[in-house]
Amino acid sequence: GQCRVVCPTGAISIHTNIDPVWEALADKNTKVIAQIAPAVRVAVGDQFGYAKGENVMGKLVGVLHRLGFDEVYDTSYGADLTVIEESKEFIERFTAGEKLPLFTSCCPAWVKHCETKYPELAENLSTCRSPQQMFGAVVREYYKDPERNEGKRLVSVSIMPCTAKKEEILRPESMTNGKQDVDYVLTTTEIIRMIKKSGIVFDKVEIEAADVPFGIGSGSGVIFGVTGGVTEAVLRRLQQGHNRVDMEAIKTSGVRGDEGIKELTYNYNGREIKAAVVSGLANADKVIERIKNNEVHYDFVEVMACRRGCIMGGGQPVNAGPRTKRARMKGLYDTDVNTQIKKSNENPMILSLYDSLLKGKEHELLHRNFTK
Ligand code: SF4
Repeated sequence: GQCRVVCPTGAISIHTNIDPVWEALADKNTKVIAQIAPAVRVAVGDQFGYAKGENVMGKLVGVLHRLGFDEVYDTSYGADLTVIEESKEFIERFTAGEKLPLFTSCCPAWVKHCETKYPELAENLSTCRSPQQMFGAVVREYYKDPERNEGKRLVSVSIMPCTAKKEEILRPESMTNGKQDVDYVLTTTEIIRMIKKSGIVFDKVEIEAADVPFGIGSGSGVIFGVTGGVTEAVLRRLQQGHNRVDMEAIKTSGVRGDEGIKELTYNYNGREIKAAVVSGLANADKVIERIKNNEVHYDFVEVMACRRGCIMGGGQPVNAGPRTKRARMKGLYDTDVNTQIKKSNENPMILSLYDSLLKGKEHELLHRNFTK
C-alpha cells in the first residue's frame, strides 16, 4: 500500500501552495491528483545526483505516489489536446484569412503581456486554453463520476516550471462554468523542497509509469517544454504522413535552435504557411513592431515569455548555465525520439477521449470563454 506523509513543516506560508497540498495529501477523504509538465522532468534529476537534463519522469511518478498522490498524470496529455484544438483553429483562420497571425496562448505571461500592451492584437491570441488548463478541465469532468472519485473530494495539483501558472488557474475565462479546475500549482523548486522534506530517498524509489488514462502523451506533447515545440507539434499535426522522413523535414525546417526569433515556411496543400517562433518578451515586442509596420507577414506566431521556453521557467531551479540549458533541451528532444507516438492526433488515449467525455464539450472544456 501507499504510505502518506504528514506535513513535516508545520509552517504556513502565503507565497507557496506547499502547505495546503500537504494537508490534502494527509486527508483520507481527498483524492489528490497531479499533472507534471514536460519541463519539470528534465530539471529535477540533477538535484538528486542525476545528470543534468536527464528525464527522471519515472522516478518522479514513483516519488509522488509515495508522497500520497493518488494518481500521477502527464501534462503532455493536455498538450496533445492543445495541439489538436489549436491546429483546427489555425486552419480555420488560415483558410478564411482571418485574425492572422494566430498567436499561441499556452504561456500565461505572454498572454497577459499581449492583452495589456497590445489589446488591439488580443483577438489574434488562440482561444485555446493552455495544456495545464485543458488538462485541469478534463480531469475535473472525468472525476465527476462518483465511481471514479470514490465519493472523495478531488484536489487537482499541477507541477509546473512556471510561477505565472499560479495566476493562470485563477483567470475566469480559463475556468469551467465559473469554477476553478486546478486547485494548486507547485513549481519545480517547490516539489523538490517537498521531496527533500519528506525524507524519501529519490534514487532509491523504483521508477513507475504515469497513471491511465491521462498519463500518456505523444512526443509532440513533450517538446512543448522547449521553444519551438508548439510550432513543431502543430506542423506534425498538419503533415499528412508520419514517417521518419516527414518528421525529420519538420525538425530541420528552422523550428529548433537557440535563437530568440526564428522564422520558417511550411508548405501546406500548396500554400505557404509563414511562422515565427519567439522566446523572450523583448523579442516578442520586436516581432510585433515589425508586424505592425508591415515589414513581415506571419500566419502563425509562437511566443514563450521565457528565453528557450519553459525549460528555463521562473519556477525551475536557478543557477542554470549554458550546459544546463542545453542539457534540458536535449533531455526533451531525446524523450521525443524515444516516444513511438510522435503526433498528438495519433495518441490513442486522446482519440478515445474525443469519442467519449469530450463529445460536444470541446468548447466548454478546452477553450477560453470571454463573456464580459
Ligand atoms: Fe511559464 Fe515561462 Fe513557460 Fe511562459 S515560457 S509558460 S512564463 S515557464
